Amino acid sequence: MRTAPMLDVSSLTHTYGGGTTAHTALADITFSVAEGELVSVVGPSGCGKTTLLRILSGLQRPTGGEVSFQGRPVTGVPEGLAMVFQDYARSLYPWQTVAGNVRFPLRHLRLGRAETDRRVHESLSAVGLEGHAGKYPSQLSGGMQQRVAIARALAYQPGVLLMDEPFASIDAQTREDLEDLVLHVRERYAMTIVFVTHDIDESVYLADRVVVLSGPPTRVMTTIDVPLPHPRDQIETKELREFVALRGEVARLIRRPSTERTAEPISR
Ligand code: ADP
Repeated sequence: MRTAPMLDVSSLTHTYGGGTTAHTALADITFSVAEGELVSVVGPSGCGKTTLLRILSGLQRPTGGEVSFQGRPVTGVPEGLAMVFQDYARSLYPWQTVAGNVRFPLRHLRLGRAETDRRVHESLSAVGLEGHAGKYPSQLSGGMQQRVAIARALAYQPGVLLMDEPFASIDAQTREDLEDLVLHVRERYAMTIVFVTHDIDESVYLADRVVVLSGPPTRVMTTIDVPLPHPRDQIETKELREFVALRGEVARLIRRPSTERTAEPISR
């Protein structure tokens, strides 16, 4: 049984510019995310994934369609929504310690000292950085810095966590560890997550459902359920016949020549 959507995206369109230079980045995007679901959004580079996430997070107004978060239309940055960006180096404050970075957004919540400290400690321990609270970002590897960004989002305890290609610039081994970290914290915090990626394996490995986007002008080609068992494992899950079939299905959709792409969303 599906609960009411946490996030609802309806007939979203976005066109940059106007007149002869108008560029329709998003042509028709409709999908919803239920509470506690992990939905990945996968599509080719340049298909408008960043535009979509900026609209979902209220940073950008769409030229058409609607987004609602917890039943309310998104007209500005909603409270209760956190984002983890690809560019971890620029998303952390270099002059603040690890703990300081995690603590920083919590000041808006006026939680009091004890609860703030508890959340900082708990979220750093959830990402395996409890021993690094006093270090500065420059003293950490890229993977560790991205863990700090994830801890910062967790401490905020958002209704929805939006992740914008968060592991795109991280080496393969660390990336697998961080994917497993996302699954772990999702389980521990029963979080609702929208994970945007251009990596097909990653989109299937992490998700309960995959929203597959076409190339521009971008539409939802289809939404695919991922009934793979939990806990997932980087080796065993990826050896499953179901995993191989699902990744093949997504890959065929994304790599089909644009002339063959379907203009209408397919629902499953
Ligand atoms: P993705 O994240 O999938 O690579 P983007 O959302 O960054 O895609 O961009 C989608 C399309 O919209 C691209 O063709 C890009 O050039 C265009 N675009 C993005 N931002 C702007 C902007 N501010 N003005 C004009 N065009 C833009």
